[in-house]
Order: sequence, then structure tokens, then C-alpha cells
Amino acid sequence: MDINTLTVASTRTAIAEKQITATRLVEDFYQKIKAEDGDINAFLTLCEHRALGQAKRIDDLAGRGDVLPPLAGIPIAIKDVMVTRGIRSTAGSKILDNFIPPYDCTAVARLEAAGAIVLGKTNCDEFAMGSSNENSAYGPVRNPRDSTRVPGGSSGGSAAVVAAGTAVASLGSDTGGSIRQPASFCGVVGLMPTYGRVSRYGLIAFASSLDHVGPFTKTVKDAAILLRVIAGRDPMDSTSADVPVPDYEQEIGKPVRGMKLGIPAEYFSEGLDVGVRAAVESAIQLLSDAGAEIVPISLPHTQYAIPTYYVIATAEASANLARYDGVRYGYRSPEVRTLSDMYRKTRDEGFGPEVKRRIMLGTYALSSGYYDAYYLKAQKVRTLLARDFQNAFAKVDAILTPTAPTPAFKLGEKTDDPLSMYLADIYTVTADLAGIPGISVPCGQTKSGLPIGLQVLGKHFDEGTLLRVAHVVEHELSSR
Ligand code: GLN
Repeated sequence: MDINTLTVASTRTAIAEKQITATRLVEDFYQKIKAEDGDINAFLTLCEHRALGQAKRIDDLAGRGDVLPPLAGIPIAIKDVMVTRGIRSTAGSKILDNFIPPYDCTAVARLEAAGAIVLGKTNCDEFAMGSSNENSAYGPVRNPRDSTRVPGGSSGGSAAVVAAGTAVASLGSDTGGSIRQPASFCGVVGLMPTYGRVSRYGLIAFASSLDHVGPFTKTVKDAAILLRVIAGRDPMDSTSADVPVPDYEQEIGKPVRGMKLGIPAEYFSEGLDVGVRAAVESAIQLLSDAGAEIVPISLPHTQYAIPTYYVIATAEASANLARYDGVRYGYRSPEVRTLSDMYRKTRDEGFGPEVKRRIMLGTYALSSGYYDAYYLKAQKVRTLLARDFQNAFAKVDAILTPTAPTPAFKLGEKTDDPLSMYLADIYTVTADLAGIPGISVPCGQTKSGLPIGLQVLGKHFDEGTLLRVAHVVEHELSSR
């Protein structure tokens, strides 16, 4: 069996039909990780003992002829911003280098309850702040499609393991684009669900009103399978929504004929790479050929999205990261004389430069005298951005855009220029601010072979439509 091409759906069949045992599969994946991940640097921590224990339980069930849970034996990886009981969880930061959480993130617990096996934790930008994975305290991740380039961020490790085939699927988090943009850079599928669709319990907080958990997969169908398992109300997260979770797999294979798909002019203006534009436009043509009606639309406040995001996200981050003080858990500076000395040195030594920059920006935006001018103003613009989408969705069923303005850039290319790094999320932050779902599906490549993603945005809680549209693109491209 070739483990490189395994999907969630095909692994499910292989295990159910006893073509392979879960134990053998897990062992094969660890062998591949040990041979290939050294250069990529996508895994931070492996949990072999725990994974093999879980694999044995699945094999015992299968041996007794019991009904297997829906994800039985499927090897997955988890972004290191999600806590895992007994397994080190760093959030890519030195300040949590020694942190062993006493509980599991709900999304991870749900995958494990469904039989999935966690192979390990993946590298990411520190506290999910970044667009290239170069802000990790554990070194950058390399893009498996071109090792001179970044995998995107902040969930770069989770995108890379799926692209490299060192896990069948993974979980990431998206606050301003961190699932969709790395999916686009690595040539895999990345789904950000509606805000509240998936519990944030156990997701180490960056910006709580923007943080989302979602899957990375090789196929759109796999994203549908995983979303169904992780979605739904969780009493441990009061912002998780009590909205019924449909069987998303039913959407796979449904036609797009008669659907109205909006093309926002603002997402195709200057700054868009010519290769990206060409691939996205041909995917739009393909959906039109499949019977969808293509409707030009406008999202007029788009130009304010990046500054709005960087005020709100940093404000929330400055509050959320106040908890890392060396008192309760995580890193504590060893040589301190007074309490305030300990706070100061712990945070100075524990946080990297980007995290410090954001804490300063956010604290400034929230300080009295500036609160109204920055934070309050940003909240008002956030409402306008959400209203742009509301108006658009009165006319169309989904919106099509490029996921990112460029393909994967070179390592080091943007590290000295935070503003140009922030612009990597120009097409993704709007959905986070509005709380709507988005998916990135591969839609082609540049002349030099770098993957390009098409982004599909939808109405609140309408992930089904996104999956349906994305699947048509995937299917039409593969049958060419
Ligand atoms: N790149 C964006 C940032 O740096 C988004 C990160 C994310 O979605 N976690 O904030």
C-alpha cells in the first residue's frame, strides 16, 4: 500500500476491509516522518507511545469484529496551538516550551473519540502570529513542494504534513487566514468553518473573536468528513453555536448548476500575481461551464480589512497573552530578584519579536485616550465589512476569490518587512472579521510548479455550499 496517496476516505476503507492494521499504518507513518521530516521541520513533538496504544485498541476492536468508529485508525497531526493531554503543547513559543497540558482540546478529543490517531504536534508561527511559519521559536518549516520556499502560516506545519504525506490529515487554526493561506501555498485543501461552528475549547488563544479550528486534507471530501466530526455545540465553549451539524459528505458530488457565484472586483485588483490570477480565472470559467451563474459583485470596504484586523487581533492578543507571566505554568526566567523582575524577564526571554510587537501594538490601541480612535473605530469598520458580505449574500450563494495574492514566497523574503508579510492575508482576513466560512482548494499552479488556491466564501453555517463548489473544481480539474 502506498501511504503517500492515502486519504481519510481511502484509509477508512483500507482499515475496514482489513487491507492493513492500524498498528502497521501508524508504524509506517512514523518511519516516513523520521526519514523525511528532518528537512521539512513540520513536526515539533511525536507521541509514538500514545499513538501505538490507540492503534492497538482499534486493531483489537477489528479483531473482535466490532463495528469500528468512523475515523478508525486514521493518522492525523495537530497544530501545536491545540492542547493535548500529556503531550507537550508549545504554540510555537519558548514560553510554553515545557508545557504539558492536563486536558485535551475539544476538536482533538472528538477526532480521537471517532478513532483517529494523533501522530504528533505540528510547528507553527509563535501563538499563530505570522504568514510564513518563520516566527516559530523552533525554526521555520519548509514547503514540501519547494524547500526554498515557506509553507505559509501560521499553520505551516499542518499544511506541510498533508502535502508531504507524513499525515493523512491535520488540524490547524485560522485567525486571519492561517488555514486557507498555507493550504494554498502547499497545494492542499484547507477549511475555516463559521465562527462558532467548531469549539475553541483547548485552542491556545490568540484573538478570541477571530480564532477558528479547521481541517487540512488532501481532498474536499476528506474536509467534509472531518468537519462533521469536529463541529457542533460544546458546553466548554460558550461561543460554540447550537446549530445542527449536517452530513457534509452528502454535498460531495452535488452539481453547481443554477448556483450564483459572486466575483468581488476588489479581490482582483493590483498586487495580484499574474499566474494566480490566470489559475483562479480558469477555475471560475470551469464553474461557469458546469452551469453556475457568475455574478460580478463589490465588497466596498475590503481596503480597510488589513488595518482593521491588525488593530482588533493585536488588542485581543495583548489581553490573552497577559497570562504568560512565569507564575502558573510555562517558562520562568531563572535569575530574578523581585516579582516584577520575574514578569519582565520571563516575558522578555520567553516571547519572540513578532509576539512582542503585537502585544505593544494591541496595548497601545486599547489604552485610554487611544481606545476610541483605534479599537472602537476598528470595531465599527468590522461591522461594515460584515455588512458588505451580508449585502453580497443577498444576491449570490457563494463568493470566489484567490486565496492569497501570490504563490509561496522564498524563506527570508519578507522577514524584514512586517507590513508586506501582513499583506499576504489581504484576501483571507475579511472572512475572519465577518465570521463567515471559507475554503481554499487547489486550482492550478504557476509555470514553475507552485500550487495556487481558489478561495470559496459562504454564508454563516453554510459550509455545505463551500464543499460542494470546491468539490466541483477539484473534480473538473482532475478529470482534465
Ligand atoms: N497571518 C495573520 C497574522 O499574522 C493570520 C494568522 C492566523 O490566522 N493565525 O495574524
